[in-house]
Amino acid sequence: MTKKIKAPSTSLNKSSKKQALPSTTHFPSPFVKNRNKLTDEEKVDLIADHFKGIMDILGLDLTDNSLSATPYRIAKMYVKEVFSGMDEKNFPSISFFEDTFDREAHRNMVFSKVGFTSFCEHHFVPMTGSVYVAYLPKNKFIGLSKIPRIVRFFARRPQLQERLTAQIADCIAILMDSEDVAVSICAEHFCVLARGIQDEHSHTITNVLRGQFDTNAELRREFFESINRNKT
Ligand SMILES: [Zn+2]
Repeated sequence: MTKKIKAPSTSLNKSSKKQALPSTTHFPSPFVKNRNKLTDEEKVDLIADHFKGIMDILGLDLTDNSLSATPYRIAKMYVKEVFSGMDEKNFPSISFFEDTFDREAHRNMVFSKVGFTSFCEHHFVPMTGSVYVAYLPKNKFIGLSKIPRIVRFFARRPQLQERLTAQIADCIAILMDSEDVAVSICAEHFCVLARGIQDEHSHTITNVLRGQFDTNAELRREFFESINRNKT
């Protein structure tokens, strides 16, 4: 089964177009501002304590050798790895290169495919798949290795696939100062595979097409053909 969902309200009207940081975008995640000033180490200790409680209620023996370090392991994984994109200071430093090509003669769509894993914010289980990113350079390019880092920054937080798609597209639009950006995500959700309807062939596709990718049918076709070429 393939579900197609268009991310909500991703075309920005003039009034909503006031400047946003590339690390927060116009589609911010629902984080509580200045909720706490805890250090990473304090967060790990507190989450480990709470997770111990969950395991205890489930009836797991926390004195068992195999389980005793699990609360700490999970807490460290949340704070240092899979949710590290909640911390703005982990936004990658971005380098640009000047666009020296003759763009009258050549349109130069830049296309990248990036594998990703994120966590569904409804069930706290992984979603995993591919992100396809394209943009038309306007006087500059983003360093190629930066696209995967941007994808990972936004993926490493409790997420919705629709919001992840919108955030990556908006971040690149802000960095490039250009609306000509397209992002498509195809992902499997473990909350669908492992529970609920348990459909192991289910994929969810979300697309955000902005600027010329929205208005120019030929460019849009070029983008989706690049995706299909990469799907092997
Ligand atoms: Zn879910």
